[in-house]
Amino acid sequence: MHELARCRQDFPILARTVRGGRPLVYLDSAATTQKPVQVLQAMERYYREDNANVHRAVHELAERATQAFEQARLRVARFIGADDPHCVIFVRNTTEAINLVARSWAQPRLREGDEILVSLMEHHSNLVPWYMVARQTGARVRFAGLLPDGRLDMDSLREKLTPRTRVVAIAHQSNVLGTINPVQEIAELAHQAGAVVVVDGAQSVPHMPVDVRRLGCDFLAFSGHKMLGPTGIGVLWGRRELLESMEPLFGGGEMIREVTLQGATWNDLPHRLEAGTPAIAEAVGLAAAVEYLEAVGMEAVRRHEQELVGYALQRLGELPDVELYGPSQQRGGVVAFNVRGVHAHDVATILDQQGIAVRAGHHCAQPLMGWLDVPATVRASFYLYTLPEEIEALVEGLQAVRRIFGTSR
Ligand code: PMP
Repeated sequence: MHELARCRQDFPILARTVRGGRPLVYLDSAATTQKPVQVLQAMERYYREDNANVHRAVHELAERATQAFEQARLRVARFIGADDPHCVIFVRNTTEAINLVARSWAQPRLREGDEILVSLMEHHSNLVPWYMVARQTGARVRFAGLLPDGRLDMDSLREKLTPRTRVVAIAHQSNVLGTINPVQEIAELAHQAGAVVVVDGAQSVPHMPVDVRRLGCDFLAFSGHKMLGPTGIGVLWGRRELLESMEPLFGGGEMIREVTLQGATWNDLPHRLEAGTPAIAEAVGLAAAVEYLEAVGMEAVRRHEQELVGYALQRLGELPDVELYGPSQQRGGVVAFNVRGVHAHDVATILDQQGIAVRAGHHCAQPLMGWLDVPATVRASFYLYTLPEEIEALVEGLQAVRRIFGTSR
């Protein structure tokens, strides 16, 4: 259980107190993760020693900055098993990555009658961009349903997958239910139907080994800030032929080959999809985060979270007023629940008074809330630095909720 406990000292923020001296119990890593000193130091070192704009000058600092930025790309590519680092496009976050695919790949290609297949557990980031494409093109968004325990209903997915399906956009891991979806199988089915597969890896790439060759997807989107890196940097990985076929969404510096009075031609990948000055220090920070995760080992991260989530489900399951959501198997380190008779926001507020940081709300997954038939849930989410003692603190915190609100009415 304590295999990764030594990691904790690398995260200075986890040693701070909150709410008048209470130790911080940070159970909100699905929203964003804390950052180890290795990441903080890499970014500071970059600004102190190497800072310059990338790609555009011959001076030493520009060379160093460019090298650091491109090394970061290489490191990220290796981390996700991508053979070609030029297929790693740096964007701001998962949201931007999916919007880029939606606007730049899907929108020009889809027509009335085409279908985009998503699931009922999607984050709005993997849903709203497809609604936008549908609005522009006349295509239709369809939903694969869920089984009662919160796993994806593969029969429903097969049924909704038709020759009209052009895109299958699916979360690898749900940010609410924790469900891990069989993306490899989905990609095979989708490809048989002639659809392109977009995987929202925001909650999987940080928490388990992810290899794009094994997944068989066409696009993978994820965010640096959810995997120990800084905010402001995310990744879109795509198959080369698909990325090359995309018209850039933004025009400007970096992304051109030549600009004349008549017009412009586009640069090669990845630059054609990265207009303007990129988030250089953030890429350096992300590379340091990847290095950190590789040193720990993604199998070990996954194992740790599996143990934690098993423990959390068991302990929370013992509380009579707590209703838990999501499957018991094939799930990541996320536990969504409600305390019967108490609004999720009240639960989160009482926990916060005890120094316990959880999230309450619809978690940007309103269709899923509709399916669960609740307005909101509380969500506790874990990472490699989470300790079993923090789950105990959550259990104690929930007992305090019960004391304050009484037992279920
Ligand atoms: N998809 C999933 C499954 C997520 O959990 C999140 C973040 N909560 C996102 C997409 C969006 O990530 P970002 O806000 O970094 O773009």
